Amino acid sequence: MDKGTLFVVPTPIGNLEDITLRAVRILQESDVIVCEDTRQTLKLLSHLKISKQLISFYTQNQLKRIPQVISLLETGKNVSLVSDCGTPAISDPGYYLVKEALNCGINVIPLPGSCALITGLVGSGLPTDSFIFLGFLRKKTGKMKKELLSAAGTGKTIVFYESPHRVVKTVEVCKEVFGAGTNIVLARELTKKFEEFIRGSIENVLSGLKIREIKGEFVIIISPVNKESDGFSGTYDENELQ
Ligand code: SAM
Repeated sequence: MDKGTLFVVPTPIGNLEDITLRAVRILQESDVIVCEDTRQTLKLLSHLKISKQLISFYTQNQLKRIPQVISLLETGKNVSLVSDCGTPAISDPGYYLVKEALNCGINVIPLPGSCALITGLVGSGLPTDSFIFLGFLRKKTGKMKKELLSAAGTGKTIVFYESPHRVVKTVEVCKEVFGAGTNIVLARELTKKFEEFIRGSIENVLSGLKIREIKGEFVIIISPVNKESDGFSGTYDENELQ
């Protein structure tokens, strides 16, 4: 019997229009959808008018669930993996399932689509040519500093995820590590009604944060350290860029 395929399917990070035609078709054609929070996925599926068997697969139960999902794939079922938002396996469960599927000789097909880090980075106005993504930073200040310092040493743009209740403390740590004048961008509520990019020096962004209510999820982007300039002066000859 032919084995099934594991599809890794990105879903919107806020705006329900941000799902690809291919993702909708793959979800329709799958036998089973493996998802983080079934209530969250049901909302999306009901919007798309798709009805499927769901299997919950979240951080705490994923290792227990993997054999069950692999056995479905081994018996020829096609399985779509989704997370609550964005691309599965990016700061979301998925990595261990993909790894195990590949170990078992199962075909894995990842679909491109919504991902908060890429959306935030490309709208930040900071260099996109090379960057380092840190996921969620460690919570203890000492470990967070160490992680940021090591990323700073790469000379690349730094991107990471942060929740609203930790953002002020995290930006304070960034000020210590990178210096008050370093440029930072907070990309908030991406693709949603109150989408906002807060751009400026760490010092100015921090002062702004302290006098407002902080809501929504954040992608934080920090300018490369020790990079003099990205070579772009603001006026350019298009021929030179080709
Ligand atoms: N897998 C997802 C992806 O591809 O982006 C990320 C999931 S991770 C559990 C959730 C984090 O992503 C949030 O805490 C926030 O930092 C970021 N995030 C997700 N949606 C966002 C949005 N609409 N605007 C800004 N950040 C967002």
